[in-house]
Amino acid sequence: MKVSFLDLKSINGERREAILEALARVVDSGRYILGAETEAFEREFADYCGVRHCVGVGNGLDALELMLRAYGVGPGDEVIVPANTFIATWLAVTGVGATPVPVDPAQDTFNLDPERVESAVSAHTRAIIAVHLYGYPAPMNELREIAQRRGVRLLEDAAQAHGARYHDRRAGALGDAAGFSFYPAKNLGALGDAGAVTTDDDGLAASLRKLRNYGSSGKYVHEVAGVNSRLDEIQAAILRVKLRALDADNARRAAAAAQYSRELSGTPLRLPVEAPECTSSWHLYVVRCGEARHALAEHLAAAGIDTQIHYPLACHCQAAYAGAGFSSEDFPVTNRMQEEILSLPMGPALTNEDVAHVGRACRVFFGGAGS
Ligand SMILES: *Cc1c(COP(=O)(O)O)cnc(C)c1O
Repeated sequence: MKVSFLDLKSINGERREAILEALARVVDSGRYILGAETEAFEREFADYCGVRHCVGVGNGLDALELMLRAYGVGPGDEVIVPANTFIATWLAVTGVGATPVPVDPAQDTFNLDPERVESAVSAHTRAIIAVHLYGYPAPMNELREIAQRRGVRLLEDAAQAHGARYHDRRAGALGDAAGFSFYPAKNLGALGDAGAVTTDDDGLAASLRKLRNYGSSGKYVHEVAGVNSRLDEIQAAILRVKLRALDADNARRAAAAAQYSRELSGTPLRLPVEAPECTSSWHLYVVRCGEARHALAEHLAAAGIDTQIHYPLACHCQAAYAGAGFSSEDFPVTNRMQEEILSLPMGPALTNEDVAHVGRACRVFFGGAGS
């Protein structure tokens, strides 16, 4: 039996007809840049997240970078970021010329640890970027309290958290602004690159609408030196189709996660935590394997099961930041995590049989009962 990590072909194949209809609508519209589909998707996604504005951009990295730029973050400024995140969170900060200040995560959630964030805030700090890593909401109430008291922005990197909930709000509505990616493998995935910023801040939304479109406020009127990072009309049309299925897709992920947790409860694996105020989008199901990671991954591969590691090499260990002066000793939790974590197959197309097969293979590996 083969269990692929994420079967995009079958996820999109399920909606083939609706996607092709959406494409035909764009072809027939004659408007291929910032047209009716982009406008409609922006309204629908803002409503979905529970905020006033959604501004579509080219990809998730641009969403984060433009959000920082629109808030005036630049050279000399510091931005607090998780040490354990996908590199885009850091690249957005260095992209505007500011300095990323990484902090180690909390052991149990893999998310920002408010105490460590508090000690990392300096006179130069302008913003905190909380990443809802693997789809699990960061402790936003504690972070908001710190951000307000210290007078800095609280931003979300919600690239893995479409539809995740924290108390009674959704990711995208939990800080001053949020950056989303619609990269094909995300919970809400396009068939190419796409991204967006969500916010209740009218001024920020207006700045972003200019920045993403050459800094223009009207045709051939350029108020700032902006960029070309618009949400593609075709991707917007596809995203409207996929947004309608997002809650159902996330429910299928949550069911797979619950089944994993039952199947794996007797093994030495450390499983993802779930606090009552947090509803994960289950972008990934990440277990901690201690010393056994390599051997377990090999065992699963032999049983036809794909696994991945998110992420095998932390940003402070990457050549891209070699000259930046980060010391590996400052991030013991991240260092240990990257040795121990393993992402099991996860996605809306995963069947009960798939999860049962993975569960069985893990139990056999640890010498327990195979069924
Ligand atoms: C995917 C991702 C991004 C970047 O999104 P792109 O659309 O690929 O630029 C940023 N942050 C996190 C946490 C991500 O997972």
